[in-house]
Amino acid sequence: MNFFSLPPSGNPIPISHIFRATSVFFRNTQGEDGFQKIIKTYLKVKHCLLVSSGTAALWLILKAAKKIEQKRNEVIIPAYTCPSVAAAVIRAGLKPILCDINMQDFGFELEALKKKINFKTLAIIIVHLFGFPSNIKKVKQISRSSNILLIEDAAQALGNSMINSPQEKLGSLGDIGFYSFGRGKPLTLNHGGLIVTNNSQLFEQIFQIYQTIERPSLTENFLLLAKLYFYVFFFHPSLYWIPQSIPFLKLGKTIFDLNFKIKKTSPIAVALANKSIGLIEENKKVRQKNTTFLLQRLNSFKKINLPAYPFPYLRFPLIVSSNTHRNRLLAHLRAQGLGATMFYPCPLNEQPGLKEYLHDTNIYPNAKKLSQTLITLPLHQGVSHKDLNTMVDIITHYL
Ligand SMILES: *Cc1c(COP(=O)(O)O)cnc(C)c1O
Repeated sequence: MNFFSLPPSGNPIPISHIFRATSVFFRNTQGEDGFQKIIKTYLKVKHCLLVSSGTAALWLILKAAKKIEQKRNEVIIPAYTCPSVAAAVIRAGLKPILCDINMQDFGFELEALKKKINFKTLAIIIVHLFGFPSNIKKVKQISRSSNILLIEDAAQALGNSMINSPQEKLGSLGDIGFYSFGRGKPLTLNHGGLIVTNNSQLFEQIFQIYQTIERPSLTENFLLLAKLYFYVFFFHPSLYWIPQSIPFLKLGKTIFDLNFKIKKTSPIAVALANKSIGLIEENKKVRQKNTTFLLQRLNSFKKINLPAYPFPYLRFPLIVSSNTHRNRLLAHLRAQGLGATMFYPCPLNEQPGLKEYLHDTNIYPNAKKLSQTLITLPLHQGVSHKDLNTMVDIITHYL
């Protein structure tokens, strides 16, 4: 057993913020309008709406889109992404169509994308994996020319922008976008999702459906508080091994679940969001600094593929030459509790639970390759200089 273990992603939440959220909850004050105002200014969008998770946000967007375009039922998604994306599509009564990714920005392979479009295509979901901008300008040209809704999954990208263009915030560049405040996301609140758009017609449809969903129950709110205190306590290398070794918490497991909750947001998460919003920029700076350090130290190694830019990735993606090398190097990093992960273990058409829905036997070469050769390293505030040096030592020694 290893008594040191870095969380792979996310950020520490100051305990004072949680005390504050607790007291706001018991005094029953609403802070949702205030938070919405701040977010609208920050992301320069007309409309926004908070719900219980990123997946619930996506479900709501798709339900509304389906109501507007009733004859279309296909939604194109990357073959390598979070299985919750497919879960939202299926639960909205729509059909996920997988498309291969490219190995540069991990977004869509554009030629493959064009081939997936037909008269039944309702929407394209573009994902900014690791918070890195995928080629949204090109994808937008494609979606515009076929009159298809472009949904931007910025669950991993809150606060990040297009390269060298801080004005263009990821999530605000498609027809509609969403974010997640779940575990391991750029602003970790352990609960919540956010929809943003400038499209008033679509937003109106979304708002109508939103009014029919419930608020979290008192029990759910108390559970969230308990979870937050638990998280604050254990988000520390000397303690994170404890929750990690409890199987039912399923930390680091990629699961497909159609029974995700669809609720309005919890007032606790809103209070916490109001208190923590400044952390977005702060966390981003730390991740950028740590990325720059890793790039400088690892740049001379030809056997690994590194990110091309010193960008504030959510996690540092490192691509090695084969599956065998990946598994071995990952084992070395894990043995030191360095928070390295393989990320999603397989393309979506191989994901247990989901593959039975998709019946998709196509091969997505890049999705497959990435799932077999990727290692992610943590970049968050809990990672010390010593940890980064140990990562570099293990990697250079292995190579
Ligand atoms: C986490 C994530 C989601 C889902 O967000 P939740 O808040 O966990 O439901 C969707 N897409 C991507 C790319 C994600 O990383």
